[in-house]
Amino acid sequence: MRSIDELDVKGRRVLVRVDFNVPLAQDADGALVVADDTRLVAALTTIEELRARGARLVLVSHLGRPEGRRVQRLSMAPVAARLRELTRSQVTLAPAVVGEEVSELAEQLRDGEILLLENVRFEGGEERNDPELARALAELAELYVDDAFGAAHRAHASTEGVAHLLPSAAGRLLEREVRTLAGILEHPRHPLVAIIGGAKVADKIAVIDRFLELADMLMIGGAMCFPFLCAQGHAVGESLCDEQDTEHARRALAKASERRPGGAYARVQLPVDLVIGDRLAEDAAHRVLDGVDVPDGWMGLDIGPKTAERYGQEIARAGTIFWNGPMGAFELAPFAAGTRAIAEAVAAADALTVVGGGDSAAALAQFGLEGTVDHLSTGGGATLELVEGNVLPGVQALEGAGAAQR
Ligand code: ADP
Ligand code: MG
Repeated sequence: MRSIDELDVKGRRVLVRVDFNVPLAQDADGALVVADDTRLVAALTTIEELRARGARLVLVSHLGRPEGRRVQRLSMAPVAARLRELTRSQVTLAPAVVGEEVSELAEQLRDGEILLLENVRFEGGEERNDPELARALAELAELYVDDAFGAAHRAHASTEGVAHLLPSAAGRLLEREVRTLAGILEHPRHPLVAIIGGAKVADKIAVIDRFLELADMLMIGGAMCFPFLCAQGHAVGESLCDEQDTEHARRALAKASERRPGGAYARVQLPVDLVIGDRLAEDAAHRVLDGVDVPDGWMGLDIGPKTAERYGQEIARAGTIFWNGPMGAFELAPFAAGTRAIAEAVAAADALTVVGGGDSAAALAQFGLEGTVDHLSTGGGATLELVEGNVLPGVQALEGAGAAQR
């Protein structure tokens, strides 16, 4: 993958695909403002480096899902306002994504100046990867930098499409995401412990499968554990668990029990106790179940204290930790303890720690621990796809000799 070190940006227009898909809120006067600027702050690394090197920046991002129409409440205007404050410079907001007026604004840029394009998903061609939109975007600049890891698993006009039309490179964020994830997958410090939780086995079965091969230990929590427990013949009560997920779990367990050519598959750990509730609510009746046979009328909503203790011991011994998916319904106080215990164990671990997934990141933030992991992966879908061993189209377009020479 090409990095921006390989681009000569001085005095040239650089189209930078950023991830400015931030939450918006209304201020006291009813105006839309950026509610959480984490992604804008993160993007500053690449933006400021390119500006310092004399680049003229044309920034492009999506925001929400306008589905090909101009939706005023999804305008980039609040983002431009916050970006002006963060960069302490003028940021021009383009009136559209592409077009004559936008081209003129791009041509007027001087070294170090920033033009922010309107929400690229105002154009229906973005998600269709329309070659015409890709060409119109490419004509705004002489070079292309992709720094939106979270969008790299989709072949869209502003990611994969435009990368084929200009000399291209990965920005610092994208580079770091890919290097860190590839690093723990290709040469982890052992033991490699993967902790997989969250809601749906079907979404993560390929991730589980990959970690069976790569990891030394695979610990399952969250709603994810019930198909596994069901496959072992336990009662799951009203817990989230369907037939298809149970079939996936059965296959994963069968694989784990086989001998792997040249080694062993990861040891799979399942909960030994649970916190159960009568419904998914803050004021639900709830108690610790010493065991994993969930009685009728109850559902498993968190791992129990013994499980958290066991998982914690493995985490403390790990050389590398990958964590995706909360251990329970952590958004509700009665079912947050398991996720908190795992988050604290990961925070305290003397290992390289990587956390991926939107809800896992939210859980870390809820416990005030987001600064304690080595790498908090920002791209939910992109992170999982990379872990699964898939090639991300946005990243692939930045690879090879062609990328920097086009
Ligand atoms: P991530 O975004 O980190 O990949 P997921 O989206 O897979 O995580 O899952 C997160 C959701 O799973 C959370 O909203 C959480 O409340 C829910 N969840 C976790 N465990 C359970 C459970 N036992 N029962 C119901 N929901 C659960
Ligand atoms: Mg999620």
